[in-house]
Amino acid sequence: MQAGRKREIRKKADVFREKCKISRYGIIDLFKDCERLGYKLLRYPLGENADLGFTVKKDNDIVIFTNSCSRLSREIFTLAHETGHVILHLEEGSSFIDNNITINGRSTDEKEREANYFAACLLMPADDVGRFIDLEIQSFYEKGLSAMDIARIMSEFNVSFDMALNRLESLGVIDSNQKICLDNEKIERKVSNLLRSVGGNARLNVPGNEIEIPYEYIDYTIYNYNHNAIPKETLERVLACYQLSIEDVSDKLVEHRSDDKDDLDDLIGGLDD
Ligand SMILES: [Zn+2]
Repeated sequence: MQAGRKREIRKKADVFREKCKISRYGIIDLFKDCERLGYKLLRYPLGENADLGFTVKKDNDIVIFTNSCSRLSREIFTLAHETGHVILHLEEGSSFIDNNITINGRSTDEKEREANYFAACLLMPADDVGRFIDLEIQSFYEKGLSAMDIARIMSEFNVSFDMALNRLESLGVIDSNQKICLDNEKIERKVSNLLRSVGGNARLNVPGNEIEIPYEYIDYTIYNYNHNAIPKETLERVLACYQLSIEDVSDKLVEHRSDDKDDLDDLIGGLDD
């Protein structure tokens, strides 16, 4: 990526970040910020081997899906990556689908690399990371960073351990040897234990399994049901997300063919009489 393009992405990430609610250093809840900015968020536990996320622009709606089977810190990164596509690449009718390869940075596709860079700048901007290390990590200048410090950074910036290490390396805070040492320490002590020992946010390290479907999707689901595109069970499952049952929306449902047949039977039965 060229230096000029990188600066442009940093600037756009910075503008977006100004619209987010920040604690002292990190974004508090990127999901809430995206919803407030009018994006339609879909969160669903689609399965561990399924795609991680996608974004699509349709009829001026921006829809972002994230797979909530990922650990929460990963799901947040996926959301930041999709936001990058929205800000940098999305045009009417276009879409991006992301998996492990596009999101962990191994993809050579320029747009995927840009979205990952945007996500890193949005979640862990250089100056805020520097300020956090300077003000909150007391022994940094004598001893550098420990795995517990990485857990502190995780909790403040709502990122995964690996993301924190990658970002700190690319910012020049740690070198590749220190990264390997910290990674080994992580494997030995486990991220969940590290988070616990610094009083961090343990939820980051487990899947959220959230189900979040925009209210408009009820109408969309009913439309599909009325046109025989989905079975009754799917409709019931979507309604259950809103604590609704079939009876609650019965006035919007078209009678299905099997019901028509019953009516016909009644009619024929009536004629027989
Ligand atoms: Zn992508």
